[in-house]
Amino acid sequence: MLRAAYRTDDRVYLKDLPTPDLGDGQIRVKVDACGVCGTDLHVQPDTMGKEVLMTGHEVAGRVLELGTGVTCVSVGDRIVLDSATPCGRCEFCRNAQQELCTDVQSFFYLGSFGFSEQMVAPAACAIPCADLDPAVATLQEPLGVAIDLVRLADVTIDSNVLVMGGGPIGLMAATLARRAGARRVFLSELSARRARRDLARTLGIDDVFDPIDTPLNTCDFGCAIDRVLVTSPPRTLPDAFAVAAKGSIVSFLGIEHGEGAFCTFDANAFHFKKLQLRASFASPALFGPRALTYLREGIIDGELFVSHRFPLDRISEAIDTARGADAVKVVIA
Ligand SMILES: [Zn+2]
Ligand SMILES: [Zn+2]
Repeated sequence: MLRAAYRTDDRVYLKDLPTPDLGDGQIRVKVDACGVCGTDLHVQPDTMGKEVLMTGHEVAGRVLELGTGVTCVSVGDRIVLDSATPCGRCEFCRNAQQELCTDVQSFFYLGSFGFSEQMVAPAACAIPCADLDPAVATLQEPLGVAIDLVRLADVTIDSNVLVMGGGPIGLMAATLARRAGARRVFLSELSARRARRDLARTLGIDDVFDPIDTPLNTCDFGCAIDRVLVTSPPRTLPDAFAVAAKGSIVSFLGIEHGEGAFCTFDANAFHFKKLQLRASFASPALFGPRALTYLREGIIDGELFVSHRFPLDRISEAIDTARGADAVKVVIA
C-alpha cells in the first residue's frame, strides 16, 4: 500500500492506494517532487461528484525497480518524467514529425500519477537529472511547454511580444522570448496575482498590464505587438487577435473544460490582418533534456519560480496556496 492524493469537487486528501504492478518496459519511481499545475486546480465536468485520483504530472524522483527489458535506466537513478514520450516507431516519428506521434508512451495511460509516494511509468519517459534539486527539476515539464510556445511563435530579434497569462509557463516563455532577442516583451496578468507580477519585474519584462483594468487593445505598448503567446483560457483569444498587429503570429496553449472550450471572434478581422494561430500541446513532450539544461545553466532560474514547497501530507494546503495571490509554482517536495 502507498499513499496518494485524491479529490472530490471540494476536497483534496490522501488515501491508501494498492501498490501498482510493474509491467514490461516500465519502472517504479519513488516520487521526490511533483509540481502543482493549473490543470490540477480545476474539477473537470466529467468527474463532478466523483472521487478521482489526482493527476500530478510534473514529476522528479528515483528509480526503485525495473520491469522486464528495461536497460535505459538503473535502480537508484535520479530522473524526471516526460508526461508523454514519442514512440519512435510510428510513421510520423520516422518522418521526423515526432510531435505528431500516434502512439505516445505516458504514465497517464497507466493511471499512475505524481501526487503519490510511488508511481509506475514507461521507462521511455525517464530523463536523467542527477545534479538538480528535485523541486527545481520538476520545472522541466512546464519549461518544455514554454520552449515549444516560443518556438512556434518564431520569436526573433525584431519581435515585440505580448505574453498573456503570467503563470510559470507564461513567465518562462517571456524569459525565453527576451533571450531570443525580442525587442520588447510584455505580460498581461491580473493585479490580484501579486507574486507573478513581481516575478515578471524581476525577470526584466518591460511592462505588465491588467487586462481587466485596461482592455489589451487599448494599452499603450509604444510599439506594434507582432507576437502573442497565449497561456490564458480560450475566451481570451479574441483579445489576442484584437491586440495583434497585421501579420502577427499567435501561439496558444490555454485550455478549459466544458463551455469554456469555446470562443467567438471576428474571422473577417483575422483574415484581413493576415494573422496566424498556432497550437502548442505537450503530448508528446519534446524538450525535456533541453529544459533541464536551461535549468542547470540558470537560463531559467528555477529557484525564482518555486514559490512554495509542501510535503505530500499537506497537499490540500498546497492546492489552496496554488490558487492564491502569493503563488508562482507550488511543488510537493
Ligand atoms: Zn502541467
Ligand atoms: Zn510515434
